[in-house]
Amino acid sequence: MSRVLIADDDRVSCKLLGGLLKKWGYEVEVVHDGFAARRELMKPDAAPLAILDWMMPGLDGIEVIKAVRSAAHEAYIYILLLTSRDQKGDLLEGMDAGADDYLKKPFDADELHARVRAGKRIVDLQAALIRAKNELQFAATHDTLTTLWNRGAIIDLLKKELSRRKRTGGELGIVMADIDHFKKINDLYGHLVGDAVIREVTRRLSLGVRPYDAVGRYGGEEFLIVFPACNLSALATSAERLRCSVADEPIETNAGPLPVTLSFGLASAEQIEAASLNPESLLGLADEALYTAKALGRNRVEPAAAMLASAPSGG
Ligand SMILES: [Mg+2]
Repeated sequence: MSRVLIADDDRVSCKLLGGLLKKWGYEVEVVHDGFAARRELMKPDAAPLAILDWMMPGLDGIEVIKAVRSAAHEAYIYILLLTSRDQKGDLLEGMDAGADDYLKKPFDADELHARVRAGKRIVDLQAALIRAKNELQFAATHDTLTTLWNRGAIIDLLKKELSRRKRTGGELGIVMADIDHFKKINDLYGHLVGDAVIREVTRRLSLGVRPYDAVGRYGGEEFLIVFPACNLSALATSAERLRCSVADEPIETNAGPLPVTLSFGLASAEQIEAASLNPESLLGLADEALYTAKALGRNRVEPAAAMLASAPSGG
C-alpha cells in the first residue's frame, strides 16, 4: 500500500484529503505545520508521496520542498503542492522549488485522484529502478554459485583495506585457500556434486570468520579471505580453525558423504616492506605459501616463510 504524507494547517482540508486518499487505498500520514512536514520527509523511510499546503505555520510548502530536494535521498519523493493562490508567478515559483505538480484549493476530487495516481506511477517506477540498480550492483560484485564476493570485488576490498592500513596503521592478513584434488571430485561425481561441495565449503568458511572478515571466490575452487586487524599468528589460528571446519566432517552430497580438505597459504602485510606492499605482492606471498602447503602434502596451513626481498637501494 502506498503511503502519502499530508501537510496542511487547515484541519478541515486535511480531513477531506485524508478521507479521500484512504478511500482510494492509500495509507495516510498527517502533519499540520512545515517543520513537522520537513522532519517526516527527511526520514530515511519517508512516505514516497507528499501533498503539501503552500501556506503553513513554521515553514511554508516551498521551504519544505527546497529542504527535501537539497537532501540527497536515494528514493525520490513526489510532491504535490496545494495552493489557494492561482497566479502564474506563484505556480512557477512552486515548480521551480521542486514541486512535481500542484493543485488549487478548493480541489476537485477526481482531479486530485488523477494527479495522485500520476505521482504513484512515478514513485513505483523509481522504486523499480532502484531495485534493478541494486540487483545489478549485487550481480557485478558477487559470485553466482556461492554469493560470495567475486574475484574483482574481493581484490577491490583488499585494496581498500591496504590503503586504510596505510592511513591508520594496524594489522592485515590474507588467506588463500584451495580445495584439495577438486578436479577428482568433478571427474568422479560430475559438476553438480562439485558445485554442491563448493557451496558447502563456502558455508563453512563463512561461518568460521568474524563479521568484518571478507570471503571471496578467487577462482574455481580457490578462495581469498581478507582479515583486517589480524597478525600472522592470529591468522594461523583462524586458518587452522577453518581447515578443521571442512576436514573434520564429510560433505553430504547426492553421491554420498565426501571427505573434503583444503590447503591454506597465509600472508600478512607486516611481512612486506611498506614500499613494495600492494595487493599483488601480498597475493603473491600467500600464493607461494599455498603452493608450499600443497607440496608438503595438502590439508594444512602454511604461513608465508620469508619477507619479500626488496630491491637493494643504491647507497
Ligand atoms: Mg494553509
